[in-house]
Amino acid sequence: MDSTNTVPKDPEVKDATEEQGAVIDTSKMSAGQRAALELTEAARDAAAERGSFGGGLFMGRFDLGAIRPFPVQKPEDRDQGDAFLQRLEGFLREKVDPDEIDQTGEIPPEVIKELAGMGAFGIKISPGYGGLGLSQTNYCRAAILLGGYCGNLTALISAHQSIGVPQPLILFGNEEQKRRFLPRVAKGEISAFALTEAGVGSDPAKMQTHAEPTPDGKHFFLNGEKLWCTNGTKAGVIVVMARTPAKMVNGKPKDQITAFIVEMDTPGVEVVQRCRFMGLRALYNGVVRFNNVRVPRENILLAEGKGLRVALSTLNTGRLTLPAGCVGLAKRCLEIVKKWANERVQWGAPIGKHAAIADKIARMAANTFAMEAMTLYSASLVDRDKKADIRLEAAMCKLWGSEVAWEIVNDTMQIRGGRGYETADSLKTRGEERVPVERFFRDSRINTIFEGSSEIMRLFIAREALDPHLKIAAPVLNSQLPLAERLKAAFKAGLFYAMWYPKQFLPRFNVQRSKFKVHPILRRNLRYAARTSRRLARKLFHAMLVYGPKLERQQVLLGRFVDIGTEIFAITAACTRADALIGRGANADELLALVDYFCRSSRLRIGRNFHGLRHNADRQGYRLAQDTLAGKHDWLEQGMVGHVDL
Ligand SMILES: Cc1cc2nc3c(=O)[nH]c(=O)nc-3n(C[C@H](O)[C@H](O)[C@H](O)COP(=O)(O)OP(=O)(O)OC[C@H]3O[C@@H](n4cnc5c(N)ncnc54)[C@H](O)[C@@H]3O)c2cc1C
Repeated sequence: MDSTNTVPKDPEVKDATEEQGAVIDTSKMSAGQRAALELTEAARDAAAERGSFGGGLFMGRFDLGAIRPFPVQKPEDRDQGDAFLQRLEGFLREKVDPDEIDQTGEIPPEVIKELAGMGAFGIKISPGYGGLGLSQTNYCRAAILLGGYCGNLTALISAHQSIGVPQPLILFGNEEQKRRFLPRVAKGEISAFALTEAGVGSDPAKMQTHAEPTPDGKHFFLNGEKLWCTNGTKAGVIVVMARTPAKMVNGKPKDQITAFIVEMDTPGVEVVQRCRFMGLRALYNGVVRFNNVRVPRENILLAEGKGLRVALSTLNTGRLTLPAGCVGLAKRCLEIVKKWANERVQWGAPIGKHAAIADKIARMAANTFAMEAMTLYSASLVDRDKKADIRLEAAMCKLWGSEVAWEIVNDTMQIRGGRGYETADSLKTRGEERVPVERFFRDSRINTIFEGSSEIMRLFIAREALDPHLKIAAPVLNSQLPLAERLKAAFKAGLFYAMWYPKQFLPRFNVQRSKFKVHPILRRNLRYAARTSRRLARKLFHAMLVYGPKLERQQVLLGRFVDIGTEIFAITAACTRADALIGRGANADELLALVDYFCRSSRLRIGRNFHGLRHNADRQGYRLAQDTLAGKHDWLEQGMVGHVDL
């Protein structure tokens, strides 16, 4: 499939794969695993220095200054957002019936038209290209509004501009491309993002869709089939990831993936099937086939071979929309639960008075606040600097937000009891309120799977967290380097760790009370976060010493480190947001009760994860899983209806 041509060496690709490949143990990997690792490593932004708050946590660097004072929207930005959000809210409330959209599996064309008319397809696109030019924070606020109302519309708008043509074009498009495409997509021409294939879910190395240049090099012929392309059945223009001829790097052919902007009316583009799902029933999602589709070279985003970089960077910011939608959903669930738990009397008391239900409601309220704090903070980083490195923060928001939102929806269903399981229309037919918990449940399940599954998010965060250590340790362990160079690197690494390690035991959150006015409850929790960040760094370092390059394969163990880091981020965002809100006159007692409860619960989760680092059944569990997969416990499946091939 890939033809090979020799091109000059790409130093970025070398840095990413060769320096760090040595400390990630590839010895027991299959060729497929190794190919996947090499490809994603090459696409990492290796040159970027991790200076972010999230990245620092895993190195014991608790940079409170990066998150405090908690960013507040400038009045002008807020007013611009408010004006749009008011229009959007009024329109949704008056003209959009999300249950009907769910039932019919279609979004009425007039809804799409009106959304386009108010600029909802070009929220972040600058006015010079026909968009509204709103900030990332305002865009997230729109996603919050939509997320608590209609999952189908959230997906339509988000797939279009978080991962569809606008986002990669804003990030990587040249002026000519921006002039050609941005005004169209801003006006409402729907766009999409096509990476997934039948064999390519989380692993892009197996990509089959390919594009071969024409002899004059001016065009590419695109062939292949993309799966589950959201908006694909309605889009006018989409971004397609395809394999292009391999490059020679250090005498070896290196796989190349390139991002193309493809006009859907080009001959050879075919929407083969509209896919249907458990939830998001009005998703315009499809299988898109490319049969000798002629794409001009000018439609390449960034550069040939940089497609995975385009895809990963697009998702880095793009995936912030998903947790914002989750915040909206959580707010709606809270509203539903508050009403029901007050109203519904069982066993002589409103169910909200029963401790088992009250426990769920407290968790929902506290988690909603923290989720919103994390999302707004991360959005503000993009507003401060469009090219800000928010890889870790966005991934943490996505991982934590989607998992917590799922728990919230699940608890909402439990609290609504049988009514949670009943459809909104059936409730209405019986004369009850049309509360769509069943729809929310179906619509939200996908959130932990798409735009980076939870498992992949944990691996991604772990990889980024280990990066500073890998940079230091890689040359020491790289057997291909001359001995003298390795010894020099070992000396440097020794010096670094001799300074760094003892610091992880020293208290450093000793800001003077006078300089750092914060409520004692928040101060206590922030101190805990700072202290725990150093403990996290120490434990991660110990794990590196124990497992060496094999640490990368300890997915469950690494997952615990990631979850601890994410909880520290959540505590810090929640405390600093509360601090800012109190500073602006919010009711301190109410807020402190909410945030302190959140921090206490989070600390318990962190404690369990630290405990699990040493006390776990990971190894036995892995063995049992392999035995099960190999058929050792087939007897467990006895007593079922025999397999029916329908
Ligand atoms: C409704 C819907 C909309 C979508 N929209 C789009 C879209 O617009 N554009 C697009 O390109 N794609 C889209 N997708 C695809 C989506 O992003 C993928 O489903 C997702 O990337 C996971 O891929 P997969 O389903 O093939 O799972 P797989 O990659 O096959 O993974 C299956 C399971 O194994 C886990 N897993 C995989 N690899 C590892 C590993 N190395 N370590 C540990 N666990 C692992 C995964 O987390 C998952 O739990 C959509 C999917 C759906 C269902």
